[in-house]
Amino acid sequence: MSTQTSDKTATAATDTGAVTLRGLEKVFGEGDSKVYAVDGVDLDVHPGEFITLLGPSGCGKTTTLRIIAGFEAPTRGEVHLEGDDMPRRTPDKRPRATAFQTYAPSPHMTVFDNVAYGLKLQGLASKRIADEVSYALATMGLSKLRDRAPNQLSGGQQQRVALARAMVMKPKVLLFDEPLSNLDAKLRVQMRSEIRRLQERLGITSIYVTHDQDEAMSMSDRIVVMRNGKIEQAARPEEVYRRPASVFVADFIGRANFLEVESAIFDPEIDHAQVTVLGQTISVPANAKARSAHGRTLLVRPESVRVEKLTQEGAQSAHAVGATAIVLSSVFYGNLVEYDLETEVGNLTVVHSDPDEEEIFQPGTRVEVKIEAPRAWLLPVD
Ligand code: ATP
Repeated sequence: MSTQTSDKTATAATDTGAVTLRGLEKVFGEGDSKVYAVDGVDLDVHPGEFITLLGPSGCGKTTTLRIIAGFEAPTRGEVHLEGDDMPRRTPDKRPRATAFQTYAPSPHMTVFDNVAYGLKLQGLASKRIADEVSYALATMGLSKLRDRAPNQLSGGQQQRVALARAMVMKPKVLLFDEPLSNLDAKLRVQMRSEIRRLQERLGITSIYVTHDQDEAMSMSDRIVVMRNGKIEQAARPEEVYRRPASVFVADFIGRANFLEVESAIFDPEIDHAQVTVLGQTISVPANAKARSAHGRTLLVRPESVRVEKLTQEGAQSAHAVGATAIVLSSVFYGNLVEYDLETEVGNLTVVHSDPDEEEIFQPGTRVEVKIEAPRAWLLPVD
């Protein structure tokens, strides 16, 4: 629990914590069973920022969070909160509060008492506690439920109580470990925006662990994609999606087509290259590392390909031959249609939003495909 005094915490909205990780390493086990759970992580979390650690199971997200929380000691490296060296403090001396996935409200206390618990431990006056808790409950839309026991609440309401309990402490940093994973899909979406709205309003620096990319995309100022204990990329959601740092990130976030690129002519001035794919020579933006790479691949998101009726001209033109494809499957979802296409360089998944009925191509149809070059992204092959 936070040890902030009430006077100090009252300014938490503006006085929020910057978290710095330097050369963070955590090794579990020895010899053959040695695991580098965190393997040289450097990260600056800015004050008030909502940052998400995202990655496949076992990539080191939770261990990194647990080190920041003080539940785990790093093998090497430093954790600073506003310049203060955290590993030298025990968890209870750290200015933070956590809303962990397993952080369910205590079943024997009312909603009010659950939220008040941490403030009571701090020895605050009853009137002050009543004011702070009432405000937190109102913020979380829980005022009418204040006298209920947790077992009289829905999953989402319980989650909100857990959040209110953490937030009432006005921590400098909030740490979340998959807090929504036990909720049903609809509630999860609702809670995402609630957490985000509240976090923005209170301005609390937040570090959030999830393996759900929709959650990461919709909530974060920045996403930190981890792989094998290392940071693969730390960037805004748009950048991670449109300009991923590697094939791994491109593949992990969203859906991706990777097209083989045999040769690329790089622009000397900017990170663009001329590549020939599907019989078309196009100028595409390129990751800086693609220039010196041995192998390259072109990332094309499903929504960056246009599928058109094959024109007579297109069918006969030598230039367009490579750009024709056969529809293998076409699935209509109402707001979008998804195609699986067979091209000369392999299958291509394409998504068209808001399709007109007459524009939906049926399996077996030959079509023309056009890659929207500015939305493609040339990557080095790992
Ligand atoms: P998940 O999404 O499955 O929770 P994660 O990305 O949070 O995964 P961590 O829990 O940080 O990953 O684990 C990273 C690596 O460290 C894994 O290989 C895991 O097996 C290992 N590990 C974690 N905790 C321990 C431990 N206490 N003892 C030994 N190995 C551990």
